[in-house]
Amino acid sequence: HAKKSGKDRAQVFEPEMLRGPQFRLGIETDLRRALAEDQIGVHYQPIFSVETGEIEGFEALARWHHPERGFVSPADFIPVAEDTGMIIDLGNQIMFKACRQCREWNQRFGANWTMNVNVSAHQFASPKILEQIVHTLFETGLEAKFLKLEITESVLISGYSHVEEVLAEARKLGMQICLDDFGTGYSSLSYLLNYPFDVVKIDQSFVRHLDEDPSRADVVRTLVSLARGLKKHTVAEGIERPEEMECLRQFGCELAQGYLLSRPLSPEAATTLLQSQRKIVTMRSSPSSPED
Ligand code: C2E
Ligand code: MG
Ligand code: MG
Ligand code: MG
Repeated sequence: HAKKSGKDRAQVFEPEMLRGPQFRLGIETDLRRALAEDQIGVHYQPIFSVETGEIEGFEALARWHHPERGFVSPADFIPVAEDTGMIIDLGNQIMFKACRQCREWNQRFGANWTMNVNVSAHQFASPKILEQIVHTLFETGLEAKFLKLEITESVLISGYSHVEEVLAEARKLGMQICLDDFGTGYSSLSYLLNYPFDVVKIDQSFVRHLDEDPSRADVVRTLVSLARGLKKHTVAEGIERPEEMECLRQFGCELAQGYLLSRPLSPEAATTLLQSQRKIVTMRSSPSSPED
């Protein structure tokens, strides 16, 4: 059926697969070194409130600047990290950096921005995953309510028996759970109904050119109202055009993320953006004070 063939087609064009086993082996060797030498950084893509246009938080995205290959895409190295078990250490490194950064920004700017961190199914292989996250929160001083765990359907079908327990426990501690890439899986709807997600992220494949395709627009409108009906927050991913943004606003989507609004930014660039935002807010709130 249509959904199945769509998924198969997407997999054929995975860049990582096209490059073959040699490439993969090279990545594996280099990734080991990259982990040891702390070569993998994190960039931050702002997530905006559709209504106010203000930054609500960020998604942490792994970035590898390889000494010889240059930029290596997470689409290439995350799957290798998953298959080799390196994702555990890598995931911990990214979690630490992202939490530390979020705490630093919130302190410095007196803000309540949140941080979304992607967590792979393979990271749930370790029953200690929650202990590790709690430890990271403690070490960085970030409150649990500022951390959002992004998981995909693959986590739920991974078969690890403790997944539900870990998610429930994480929520009890104040973290939020986001269902990432919503709509791309096989049975997204049943997962949406059966697991206690706080946020649904509508995949960018639905957002792309939604203004030009009425049936796509219908799907997105339905996804948004479905999520809202279940009292979930909604984020649209991959917004590249103002027309897409306008549609999402009309459909009542709460939050937006995409190149139109901001690319993922280096920590320095993100800090600069936050500084300039604060300046605007300060100027607006005290128009009579000439010092600002
Ligand atoms: P994702 O979690 O769905 O992340 C969103 C991806 O969409 C990111 O790609 C982001 O750069 C990209 N994106 C954002 N806005 C736009 C847009 O307007 N247009 C387009 N074309 N793309 C946009 P990125 O950074 O290459 O990451 C790809 C995937 O790799 C992520 O998908 C996630 O599944 C995985 N990943 C990235 N960082 C991590 C990580 O730290 N841990 C884990 N486990 N997975 C990660
Ligand atoms: Mg994500
Ligand atoms: Mg996504
Ligand atoms: Mg994705």
